Amino acid sequence: MYECYVQTKEDVIKEVLKLLKDGDKVSCGGSMTLFETGIVEYLRNGKYNYLDRYDKSISPEKTNDLLREALLCDTYFTSSNAITENGELLNIDRVGNRVAAMIFGPKSVIVIAGYNKIVPDIKTAYDRIKNIAAPANAKRFELDIPCAKTGKCMECESSSKVCSYTTVIGYQIPAKKDRIKVIIVGEELGY
Ligand code: SF4
Repeated sequence: MYECYVQTKEDVIKEVLKLLKDGDKVSCGGSMTLFETGIVEYLRNGKYNYLDRYDKSISPEKTNDLLREALLCDTYFTSSNAITENGELLNIDRVGNRVAAMIFGPKSVIVIAGYNKIVPDIKTAYDRIKNIAAPANAKRFELDIPCAKTGKCMECESSSKVCSYTTVIGYQIPAKKDRIKVIIVGEELGY
């Protein structure tokens, strides 16, 4: 897997530019890290065919179409809820569009993650997701689910739950080697 390390979030776009071509069709998974590193805004510069899911002028139906079209883009940006020291990427999605794109579809996937996402192993990664990432997302979206209030997973069965799909990406087949590229940033980013 392609991996690189940058010291600060300001260094991220420099690395990203090495991996993009003008005119590429690009898209983003839902991620605070992508906002904090300026990627969401940077992609609006007109050099790329950006499927902008955050465009407030478009309808929910159009947004859903963009999420589907993103599965065939050239480069998909995302973070990861946790990254083990062994290199596994663990993620939990409510809708599933982000984990689907990470696994198959986009020609290239660029994962940007602060060092706070690195954990020793899969068990710790799962704990991190259920007790840090999921509650923080639930709170951000003001969802009426237990972890939004308690800050930890209460194993709820709510129809609004944020953890429908759990994925572990631990290997890329040789034909897809380096399809997923990981940029680790030496700062705390996202959650
Ligand atoms: S199962 Fe419920 S309480 Fe636990 S992380 Fe998911 S949404 Fe939150």
